[in-house]
Amino acid sequence: IREFVVNKAIQDEIPAFAGIRNYINGEYINPIQDQWIDNYCPANGEVYGQIPNSTKEDVENAYIAAKSAFPIWSQTTLEERSRILIRISELLEDNLSRFAEAESKDNGKPVSLATQVDIPRAASNFRFFGNAITQFASESHESVGQDTINFTLRQPIGVVGCISPWNLPLYLFTWKIAPAIAAGNCVVAKPSEITPMTAYLLGEICKEAGLPNGVLNIVHGLGTTAGQAIIDHPDINAISFTGGTATGAHIARVAAPLFKKLSLELGGKNPNIIFADCDYDNMLDTTVRSSFSNQGQICLCGSRIFVEASIYEKFKKDFVTKVKALKVGHPSDAATDIGALVSKTHLEKVMAYIEIAKKEKGTILCGGNKVVVENFENGYYLEPTVIEVVSNDCRVNQEEIFGPVVTIMSFESEDEVLEMANKVKYGLSATLWTNDLKRTMRMSSQLQAGIVWVNTWMMRDLRTPFGGIKASGVGREGGFEALRFFTEAKNVCIKY
Ligand code: NAD
Repeated sequence: IREFVVNKAIQDEIPAFAGIRNYINGEYINPIQDQWIDNYCPANGEVYGQIPNSTKEDVENAYIAAKSAFPIWSQTTLEERSRILIRISELLEDNLSRFAEAESKDNGKPVSLATQVDIPRAASNFRFFGNAITQFASESHESVGQDTINFTLRQPIGVVGCISPWNLPLYLFTWKIAPAIAAGNCVVAKPSEITPMTAYLLGEICKEAGLPNGVLNIVHGLGTTAGQAIIDHPDINAISFTGGTATGAHIARVAAPLFKKLSLELGGKNPNIIFADCDYDNMLDTTVRSSFSNQGQICLCGSRIFVEASIYEKFKKDFVTKVKALKVGHPSDAATDIGALVSKTHLEKVMAYIEIAKKEKGTILCGGNKVVVENFENGYYLEPTVIEVVSNDCRVNQEEIFGPVVTIMSFESEDEVLEMANKVKYGLSATLWTNDLKRTMRMSSQLQAGIVWVNTWMMRDLRTPFGGIKASGVGREGGFEALRFFTEAKNVCIKY
């Protein structure tokens, strides 16, 4: 067990708890049954507040508010929708440190990360879709020789459900909400019960920005009750979901016979493929980030690292040296690289995989232990862990761990690594390190993934399609893809 000392004053900087309530029809209200769930702070393992344990009745109220707002919002001009979305974005930026601290306290991620990534990205989501909706056009098809013209109307769906996970709480919540409302829908949204705080604060911002009441309704609670009520609702016509693959499969089973439109962004087990001809230093620094950013709790993290045999031993030594230098600590400490994992249950799940790796004859090259941070002894801290494996078939290479744990193994040829990269049930992203253009083109087209990064990682342009194949999901978010998802296409055929 390694010990890290954290300045005691940090505790005082954490924002005071504000009671979390549902945001329905522009008002903060208690859940109808007045039942509550504890909310934990991962940095110290303590309960620091409660959130509504909402039921079907709360979801119904949110639905009624959304339905009532829809006739006006769907007819609100694009300029006005755009203006409001951009105002939300500005207000998020104005409140950057408040939101970043709240996100960090709720999730365990370093405040620095929330400040540089999560909250700016949430603001960008609103700005991006505020602009994108003014550029969104539909098609027309002239039936030449038949005096006929077809044009496509792209109409908002109505009331849609947005359900998001705990790893990038506000970032992913707004990635759904912004395109949904930009396209003229009204929303019933549920953040993860594990990280509800910034979603709660968003209501306030939307109100101040002038978003009409009922356009966005935020219901807090468990997936199996509040979430289930959203997916079961017969008149919530589309569900945009990001979360685990098992939950996604369940949602698909429920939604299919109700004929809901579905967008499912699910788990990943992404390969990070390193060839000897890469720019080594850039690769090494980026690989540390792609392995351990956000405590490895990003669906896009490259958790299976494959290294060409000729540089394998050098990479192993250099990588482990860099990983050992990462500082695990309190999320508010500016020197912290790796904060706390999101929950006790999740910490236990990740640690169980380290035990599985040992049983499977994996070699723990570094990490593997809990970390006790002084003054925050009950926080959910874990050392960044690198496991050397000899086969891609082992469980730690096949199952999503979603924590600060990566595996490394060597390969001899392009064909061999391609086969291993694809031999997994997931297909979210892949990272490739090489300077060989032909190999880049060959591999990019053959890798089974929705996103391939070459000589970079997590470089995002919000116009690009985002999503996975195989067990990583169905559908694409991002850019006009998201606006297409949140609209129904209607062809109008006119004979003249
Ligand atoms: P999860 O599936 O447990 O929960 C996600 C959300 O679904 C939560 O809000 C939860 O309350 C809700 N939910 C649970 N059961 C439900 C039900 N029966 N009906 C409706 N809603 C329900 O996932 P998680 O543990 O919060 O998130 C981690 C997972 O998310 C990982 O697998 C990760 O890879 C994935 N993820 C994917 C992406 C992506 O873009 N593909 C991004 C981030 C995270």
